[in-house]
Amino acid sequence: MLQGKTALVTGSTSGIGLAIARALAKQGANVVLNGFGDAQEIARTRAAIEAEFSVRAWYSPADMMKPDEVTALVQETEERFGAVDILVNNAGIQHVAPVEAFPPDKWDALLAVNLSAPFHAIRAAVPGMKARGWGRIINTASAHSRVASPFKSAYVAAKHGLAGLTKAVALELAPHGVTVNCISPGYVWTPLVEQQIPDTMKARGLSRDEVIRDVLLAAQPTKAFVTVDQVAALAVFLCSDAASQITGANLAMDGGWTAQ
Ligand code: NAD
Repeated sequence: MLQGKTALVTGSTSGIGLAIARALAKQGANVVLNGFGDAQEIARTRAAIEAEFSVRAWYSPADMMKPDEVTALVQETEERFGAVDILVNNAGIQHVAPVEAFPPDKWDALLAVNLSAPFHAIRAAVPGMKARGWGRIINTASAHSRVASPFKSAYVAAKHGLAGLTKAVALELAPHGVTVNCISPGYVWTPLVEQQIPDTMKARGLSRDEVIRDVLLAAQPTKAFVTVDQVAALAVFLCSDAASQITGANLAMDGGWTAQ
């Protein structure tokens, strides 16, 4: 379905981003991986994608906290592959703390990665998409783009902002064959979720099991984590012709969380 297209997926060395990159490669797209992690493991992941799906895969360690590196990543992808046809703004970080104790440098970092990086990447990728008359921009938002939880002021602010950015850019690009949407998962079992358990235990004075049952899955009526493959399948659908009239949407995949 996506033969000849190139997908740039930020934050794709693990979790949701890696699942999206692999799913797009399975459909024939060349993929650009990005994010941090063990160099040998990333090299193995990249090689496995090329071998398994007969596509080209390249990895860039560009830091999404740095606007110049975000822009350069888009430009380098265009130089190497000829285009960024599909842009998935997925890199994200989390910090959990009461607002009065929230470290300002964590606020700045979180907004830079989760909200400003998508802006810089979109800004750099849009001219090429407009010129070709086709593009797909998918932003990994969150249930926290629709509702809030305590102790996540920066994350909730950034994800609400990302949903707004999605809508504004969707309107601008609607006449150009470019769709812009966000996917808003509830809790997906990834390292990002696992890593916030200790901070939440501390902030709320709970055990690990209590955090999983009473905090993480408390809001998710299905009482099950979303899987990374389910999120990836929605991203693939958004890249299909069947989804050409879906734009500016904030698509919930949250086990019913935001229906409450
Ligand atoms: P993850 O920690 O497994 O993956 C995050 C990815 O972002 C990694 O590849 C990491 O290296 C990369 N990254 C972090 N900082 C970066 C930076 N400065 N520059 C480049 N790459 C950077 O987490 P995940 O759960 O797969 O999260 C992916 C996205 O999904 C995030 O935007 C997150 O907010 C969102 N999300 C996650 C969940 C969940 O429950 N896991 C729910 C809703 C939304």
